[in-house]
Amino acid sequence: MEQQSFIFSQREVTYFFGRSFSHLIEGYDNSKIVIVTDENVLKLYQPLFQGLKTISIAAGEEHKTQHTVDGIILSLLNFQADKNTVLIAVGGGVVTDMGGYAASIFKRGIRLVLVPTTILAMVDASVGGKNGVDVGNYKNMVGTIYQPENLLFDFSFLKTLPESEWINGFAEVIKHACIKDEGLFKHLETTALSDFMGNDDLITDLVVTNVGIKTAIVQKDEFETGDRKLLNFGHTLGHAVENLYKLPHGHAVSIGMVAACSISENLNLFHPEEMARVINLLTKYKLPVKLDFDSEKVWEILLMDKKRSNDEMNFVLLDKIGAGVIKSIPLQQLKGLIQQTI
Ligand code: ADP
Ligand code: ZN
Repeated sequence: MEQQSFIFSQREVTYFFGRSFSHLIEGYDNSKIVIVTDENVLKLYQPLFQGLKTISIAAGEEHKTQHTVDGIILSLLNFQADKNTVLIAVGGGVVTDMGGYAASIFKRGIRLVLVPTTILAMVDASVGGKNGVDVGNYKNMVGTIYQPENLLFDFSFLKTLPESEWINGFAEVIKHACIKDEGLFKHLETTALSDFMGNDDLITDLVVTNVGIKTAIVQKDEFETGDRKLLNFGHTLGHAVENLYKLPHGHAVSIGMVAACSISENLNLFHPEEMARVINLLTKYKLPVKLDFDSEKVWEILLMDKKRSNDEMNFVLLDKIGAGVIKSIPLQQLKGLIQQTI
């Protein structure tokens, strides 16, 4: 069991690795807790929530909307939640993103604890305080940055996680390896998904490493003026194809990372041999590396992207494996580069 605390601008966040959900709950006055979860997690883990006020939302990214958040807020009002309430979001990234957002705006902010139950939420979504909802085709267009007081990593939740969700989460793990950690990249090359799925020690180490990578980046640049942008590797194009083709997030990010590597290669930053290693690693973790997307439609969505500024766009590329770089690319040039990736 491991416990670490990190100071962010709003508050200190304590991470508990390998501690059980029940143990966490014991530390709170149960009457003050409101659980936010989704229908799948509720069905699988109902006994854990016995006697606690619980709000269950519909599962799935298509419900990650302001409308669902409004529903959470109405339920909080029905539960007579106030400034002393602790909202505990238990679920995948959709739940931790919406739970965090609701906690940050309800009565201008109530106490928040996050309990990620998917690999994706453990290594990425729950770390760093970003939350939010999608608006139409635009992912995470509305939201806040709001740190939880506690972040609990109870690995026993992963026992019920379907393989497809492990695969999704590994897209973010590979992203971290690509932008920051060549050692992690090599470790992934010599280990298989099935090894991680069946070995508690391996998965604990992997989550601790990835949470460490993301936390270090966020601590340096909580409000994304610089280095935090690196975490968008694969996501600019990824978000566009995700909504356009209704792809799982990890699949979309995988396609986006391949495109970003291909652009890096075209700009002579990245070696073709390294490109092959990235493609092999994504394939090894059962992620797609090719999609015949409509570049005009993708381009339209990209132009609306948050990361665009005037006639240039910040794009995350790789210098080499383990070294992400942020480059401002003129829109005209970027359009051509994206057409060439197909
Ligand atoms: P993500 O974590 O990938 O951002 P979601 O919050 O949509 O996305 O979670 C992915 C799916 O996995 C959802 O259908 C959710 O209900 C389900 N889920 C979350 N945690 C678990 C778990 N521990 N076991 C089984 N299914 C889970
Ligand atoms: Zn992502």
